[in-house]
Amino acid sequence: MHDLVRIAAAALVLGLAGPALAASAAAPVPAPAATEAFSLAPLPYAYEALEPVIDAQTMRIHHGRHHQGYVNNLNAAVKANPALQGKSLEALLAGVQTLPPAIRNNGGGHYNHTLFWTLMAPPGTGGQPSTALEAQIRRDFGSMDAFKEAFQAAGAQRFGSGWAWLVWTGDRLVVTSTPNQDNPLMGDAPVKGAPVIANDVWEHAYYLKHQNNRGAYLSGWWSVLNWNEANRLFETATRKGK
Ligand code: MN
Repeated sequence: MHDLVRIAAAALVLGLAGPALAASAAAPVPAPAATEAFSLAPLPYAYEALEPVIDAQTMRIHHGRHHQGYVNNLNAAVKANPALQGKSLEALLAGVQTLPPAIRNNGGGHYNHTLFWTLMAPPGTGGQPSTALEAQIRRDFGSMDAFKEAFQAAGAQRFGSGWAWLVWTGDRLVVTSTPNQDNPLMGDAPVKGAPVIANDVWEHAYYLKHQNNRGAYLSGWWSVLNWNEANRLFETATRKGK
């Protein structure tokens, strides 16, 4: 249940932060500081588009409050560390082990969720694995079913909050999971590489509909996976590696 408490706390923080941020934006500050470094992109589909797998209310809170919260906190952390200003999100993630924890948590949160929204699509519209990706999955896991089983197990076995990943490590695909908002781009990640598929297994991703049944969320999630985007990520990652 503590994730619901966090949802409520985040909503409170955002409600209180609004006027304070507006006040500081109105204060006379030197010119370039007016633009925030990072921003929240709109969802590429309607809040209800992923039903019945993910309900509209979950999407509204997840995108509008959780993801917006990571963006706000990341911008605040960058603002507080002049040496980090102008760095790309990828550069920040590569160096997280030497940076304040706020960069790890909120930089990871912003990167992971930005990726996550694009890796989903309304049921029936996400396409199929490309010939290249399917062949690589068969090579590294034996079969598509074995890969799906490994990916679901990674999500199910992540204690507490975190993510399940399919990662291109440069010569093969690996299923892994990370705690909190960690990801495979982080300098100290146990499995480093380019994400091809990512699933958010925090309770806030599924609790309103599936309650404690993370397994039902994980098995239903395949019908909203955007294979077209996974294919594109795999193609870009393997092209880079050659
Ligand atoms: Mn999330």
